[in-house]
Amino acid sequence: MNTNFDVIIIGAGPGGIFAAYELMKLDPQLQIAVYESGNPLEKRKCPIDGDKVKSCINCPICSIMSGFGGAGAFSDGKYNITNAFGGTLYEHVGRDNAIELMKYVDNINMSHGGEGTKLYSTSGSEFKKKCIQSKLTLLDASVRHLGTDKNYVVLKNMYEEMKDHIKFFFRTPIEKVEKLEDGYEVSFKDGKATCKYCVISVGRSGSKWMQSVCDELNIPTKSNRVDLGVRVELPAVVFEDITSALYEGKIVYQTQKFEDSVRTFCMNPRGAVVNENTNGIITVNGHSYEDPSLQTENTNFALLVSKHFSEPFKDSNGYGESIARLSNMLGGGVIVQRFGDLERGRRSTVKRIEEGTVRPTLKATPGDLSLVLPKRILDGIIEMIYALDKIAPGTANDDTLLYGVEVKFYNMEVSVDEKLETIYPDLFVIGDGSGVTHSLSHASASGVYVAREIAERIK
Ligand SMILES: Cc1cc2nc3c(=O)[nH]c(=O)nc-3n(C[C@H](O)[C@H](O)[C@H](O)COP(=O)(O)OP(=O)(O)OC[C@H]3O[C@@H](n4cnc5c(N)ncnc54)[C@H](O)[C@@H]3O)c2cc1C
Repeated sequence: MNTNFDVIIIGAGPGGIFAAYELMKLDPQLQIAVYESGNPLEKRKCPIDGDKVKSCINCPICSIMSGFGGAGAFSDGKYNITNAFGGTLYEHVGRDNAIELMKYVDNINMSHGGEGTKLYSTSGSEFKKKCIQSKLTLLDASVRHLGTDKNYVVLKNMYEEMKDHIKFFFRTPIEKVEKLEDGYEVSFKDGKATCKYCVISVGRSGSKWMQSVCDELNIPTKSNRVDLGVRVELPAVVFEDITSALYEGKIVYQTQKFEDSVRTFCMNPRGAVVNENTNGIITVNGHSYEDPSLQTENTNFALLVSKHFSEPFKDSNGYGESIARLSNMLGGGVIVQRFGDLERGRRSTVKRIEEGTVRPTLKATPGDLSLVLPKRILDGIIEMIYALDKIAPGTANDDTLLYGVEVKFYNMEVSVDEKLETIYPDLFVIGDGSGVTHSLSHASASGVYVAREIAERIK
């Protein structure tokens, strides 16, 4: 079998997929290989069924985070077209170019099964004023909501179009990347392959491996940020005004007490709260469906506080992991608490949750989040819940559920230039694994951007 390719892409998440797709379109003759640790899309199956398997059993390959489609495959499929959040791609490629790339990605999604889905926009929204009046800031964005089900269809269609032109190797984690005189060699369990151009797009699940590659090749990195908080779940009607107009309102609040910034993240109208497994640590996340028959009565979103560390501390993700581990230790996984219980300084119990008016969509252990989250972070979250209560009355109700902990780990930032190229020529690092992006749209756009650069060099 040919093991020499023009381009090798490591990781088949949105970054890797869009890089492969764009290269195929720009130069159909190119020999392209994609190596992926996880399974093909149809074989990705998380064993949690809420019945026999109720919580994460730490599968060797996590189907939520790995496989064709990457961490995005079972995600809510919210493609935010904005430079205001989701990554700092614009710092490398320019603001207008970043937006153009995200729109291009949106067009491809629309032509692969996403047509008919709604594009929400904050422009001209009456909530901007309402937010300002309550000391909240609504960030500008257009949001395409594919939904978990349509997102899956888009991925399936893209794979169908690529599979006869691009060589996909599933269940093949790359172990090592080495620089050759002209190009790169990648090693995996049963062999090696070489290429002229190498694109690494290993996402969050590949962050530790990415660090090891950077260490071996002496590529500079930095890691100083982690976001910590809770996932809020409340009756969908409480947030209906916001979600029906914007689908997802990205709202930021500056706390009065510490002047920390707290923000909403990943809002899922009529969605479900889910477990997330990152390197064996169980945290919380959420998703929702476009299909009305799969929707729930609740809306969920995260409230996160960003923590930036300064010298000499360098392990921001380690800090986040330790807090998540603490919640796993106390709750055996994710902890859930009623807001009213948190405010009264008491733990939630099964009985108190059952007596509440909000039906939890995730089976989590009732407990006390104040034993897990640092006071400063929890104070910020409580302050923001009261601020949100002014624009969405009912947010601060006693029965509002808080799941913890939600941690947004940031990959260390790999030193890349304006081409997303490392200090080594033709070795590119894109997507969430680069630290440049933190979202589907930015990761996908980074893939398109690098594909165009490679195609230009090959011409
Ligand atoms: C539950 C959930 C919901 C989300 N919802 C949204 C949302 O609605 N909107 C949004 O913008 N973002 C969302 N996100 C985040 C989004 O999924 C990521 O930002 C995006 O997937 C990043 O794309 P990526 O290609 O950089 O990395 P990933 O999607 O993480 O893909 C990386 C791939 O590389 C593979 N890999 C890792 N190491 C190796 C190796 N050594 N060799 C070979 N392959 C390797 C992994 O198996 C993985 O498949 C969500 C994430 C989760 C987990």
